[in-house]
Amino acid sequence: MKVIQLGDPILRQKAQPVAEITEELRSFIDEMFATMIEAEGVGLAAPQVGKSWRLFVLITEDNNRLVFINPQIVATSSELVAYEEGCLSIPKTYEKIMRPEKVTVQAQDEFGKKFLLEAEGLLARIIQHENDHLDGILYIDKGDADFKKKIEEQFAKRAERRELKNAQKKAKQAKIQAKIAKKEGNSLNA
Ligand SMILES: [Zn+2]
Repeated sequence: MKVIQLGDPILRQKAQPVAEITEELRSFIDEMFATMIEAEGVGLAAPQVGKSWRLFVLITEDNNRLVFINPQIVATSSELVAYEEGCLSIPKTYEKIMRPEKVTVQAQDEFGKKFLLEAEGLLARIIQHENDHLDGILYIDKGDADFKKKIEEQFAKRAERRELKNAQKKAKQAKIQAKIAKKEGNSLNA
């Protein structure tokens, strides 16, 4: 799976509830874990890999893999704490973000079983970051406005360059194909 980067509209959409928890969805979840670990992340939300579904995965500090399907944060502590956050969709960018220290989240696991989890510290942080992805919210929305503007512009430029490169590649391929076609035409004429 490819991790989608800032600038892609899917990261700004409100994701849809997961209606059915199937074997296919469990394979998708396995791939999400593999992608997250490969990218050295600690959490990954479905919109980051191109599916606008209310689903995210994370790995805890003691190496437990947790799956959250149709999650809902039902309570947050009033105490806020700052912590430096990054995002696989905004690589090599970090900012200190204030969030509640504790959250209570309710969700379904990969077998559809409902659970309630009280989390604090890093786990609470990851849950909030990933849950935000399901509502099209990114951590840069919660930090400094100038920083957000700078990062968004930087990624928009990157996306433009990527598009230009792809267009050039396509044009080159078309040229090569045209050359091949011409040669074939010649050989038929000979
Ligand atoms: Zn993220």
